[in-house]
Amino acid sequence: MGPGPSGAHPRVLQAMTRPLLGHLDPDFLRAMDGCRRMLREVMLTENEVTLATPGTGTSGMEAAVMNLVEPGDRVVVGICGYFGERIAQMAERAGGEVTRVQSPWGEPADAAVVEATVRAAGNVKLLAIVHAETSTGAETPVEPFARIARESGALLLADCVTSLGGVPVRVDAWGADAVYSGTQKCLSAPPGVAPITLSPRAWDAVKRREVPCNTWYLDLQLLEAYWDERRVYHHTAPISMVYALHEALALVLEEGLEARWARHERNGRALQAGLEAMGLELHAKAGYRLPVLTTVRIPEGVDDTWVRGALLRRFGIEIGGGLGELKGRVWRIGLMGESSTAGNVLLLLNALGRLLREQGFRADLGAAVDAATRRLGEG
Ligand SMILES: *Cc1c(COP(=O)(O)O)cnc(C)c1O
Repeated sequence: MGPGPSGAHPRVLQAMTRPLLGHLDPDFLRAMDGCRRMLREVMLTENEVTLATPGTGTSGMEAAVMNLVEPGDRVVVGICGYFGERIAQMAERAGGEVTRVQSPWGEPADAAVVEATVRAAGNVKLLAIVHAETSTGAETPVEPFARIARESGALLLADCVTSLGGVPVRVDAWGADAVYSGTQKCLSAPPGVAPITLSPRAWDAVKRREVPCNTWYLDLQLLEAYWDERRVYHHTAPISMVYALHEALALVLEEGLEARWARHERNGRALQAGLEAMGLELHAKAGYRLPVLTTVRIPEGVDDTWVRGALLRRFGIEIGGGLGELKGRVWRIGLMGESSTAGNVLLLLNALGRLLREQGFRADLGAAVDAATRRLGEG
């Protein structure tokens, strides 16, 4: 129940034990095609260029940024947590002229300030945001940023590593140009490949580059030439991870996107209701709280490391500590993919409440379980 990796479905792990095939074996190519087709369904896009980069979610981020940013390009990043800053650093390494628009950690990126910044800068090539900030538990609504990008002729990049498969990601309806994710968060597969999709507009920008991008391994033109019918050798595909992604996507579609979003919503809100009823404070701004990743403030006088260690040792539950400026100030509790269950919500509340009492914090366990159970029953 940390910020990833989440638990994997047994069928996903089983898929990884299939015999290895060559990276150009017809059966393996069929699995790649299946991934492409199902990724479009899960990302709600008709983008032709939709594939999975080799590497964890960060490889998707690096592929998107390195392929879209050329030396001298103006880039604006709406930052409200750790991962937005990572995008900005990558854009700088790509040679971009980067402007950071900072918001407090726990709030969404600020569309009004971003809009003013994009206008003032003029000729912005790329506007980037993180849809679901895993460091803070806050969701940034994507549509306002897509509109700003469209009106200013910029491309919109959205990091959906923690949202895909847990909260609605609607690439085409949003009008987002570059969206990537990872396998180890709400898709509930091991870390290893990163889904990515590019709009026709973004793909044009990639193809019109004056200088080749600064990465060979994650060059999307080379990757696409392997993923599409050309099948040009580029790297030896991570065969077992492609099987895993294939099975994970099939599971998402079997459950149904709407049902899966509703499950994450119900369990996440139940956990949050329970934590508040226990007497704790949630960190992310109300109205922008992600159901898949909850940040809760560590009460005064409670030992962060002791509580997380005892949760793991005595209850077998892993949660995350704070990242960056929230280190030592919050816990991060994930309810992603297979880990998002009513049982996990109730077990975590009971275990955490008990440990907090041992630390001298008067956790109201009865109220917590009551509030969470009530919310779970509301469907
Ligand atoms: C986890 C995460 C990443 C990085 O993914 P890795 O699989 O750890 O490489 C990037 N962005 C966000 C928002 C994330 O939550």
